[in-house]
Amino acid sequence: MFFIFRTTILPIIVVLYLSSCVTPSSTPLPPSTTTPPTIATSAPTQEPTVIAPTIAPTVNPQSPVSNLLPIFDTHAHYSRNSWSVYSPQDIINKLINANVARALISSSPDEGTRRLYELDPVRIVPGLRPYHDDVTTTNWETSEKTLPYLEERIDSPIYVALGEIHVHVQNIESPIFQNAVKRALARNLILHIHSDAETIRAVYKIAPDAKILWAHAGLIESPQTVSQVLDEFPNLWTDISIREYSIAPNGKLSDEWSALFLKHPDRITIGSDTWIPERWTSYEKIIEHDRAWLNQLPREVAEQIAFRNAVKLFGIKDASDLQK
Ligand SMILES: [Zn+2]
Ligand SMILES: [Zn+2]
Repeated sequence: MFFIFRTTILPIIVVLYLSSCVTPSSTPLPPSTTTPPTIATSAPTQEPTVIAPTIAPTVNPQSPVSNLLPIFDTHAHYSRNSWSVYSPQDIINKLINANVARALISSSPDEGTRRLYELDPVRIVPGLRPYHDDVTTTNWETSEKTLPYLEERIDSPIYVALGEIHVHVQNIESPIFQNAVKRALARNLILHIHSDAETIRAVYKIAPDAKILWAHAGLIESPQTVSQVLDEFPNLWTDISIREYSIAPNGKLSDEWSALFLKHPDRITIGSDTWIPERWTSYEKIIEHDRAWLNQLPREVAEQIAFRNAVKLFGIKDASDLQK
């Protein structure tokens, strides 16, 4: 079953994911006041396979939210494609309902992050990504519009990360890419990078002191490769977004992922990756699924991955609400 998932379903998911990331839309942001969510008629009626778990979550629905393991979601977006489906207040409510105490949010364009931050500046931890208008995942490293957009925003104290950015190894030498990285590091921002292992190694050649949060555990890399790359770079962390159903197929934590978590308990974080509105629709299910496999690890390790690593990585000053 897992083999079929990897060979047949996973490549489709990856293609869908990569192709949808780059589609700009002109949907306006809804008012920030709470309004009932209206489902856009253009929204897909069926969710991609990766979104819906095939198993019932193992968390007891009767458990009061306060007893659940708190989560720091280190990979979420509120991009334009979600604005007509969920208002900013809807998103905050989803985080509260899932007992997600902090969420690293980056959005295309950045305005989505700002609207959430205005509503809940404690829960929302902003990341800055350069994508806007026709600057996308595929051309930002070479677009003349990238640096002016970042310059306008990057000195704001609200940001803790540059990214999520999609980095392509062939663009590592681009002056625009290198300037963006340099500027981010001067501000002590974490680089939140979507790439494969080869690209992570290339980024460390030009920025050996960077703290990098590697998105999706490399997306297509095996847990063994992820473990090896974590061994190579002590300032590398990784979020497991989009990998959740290979981490725990049928709800049971897989041995190979468990080995990675136990070897590097201090450098793994949780992520949901709400890159399309359907991921927000399934948000509570995704977090419940993550919480269920986290609960199969020793409690100390589960807490590190659930929130402690992210609190440390992003230097959250007051996290007493998570750690009681
Ligand atoms: Zn990504
Ligand atoms: Zn993402």
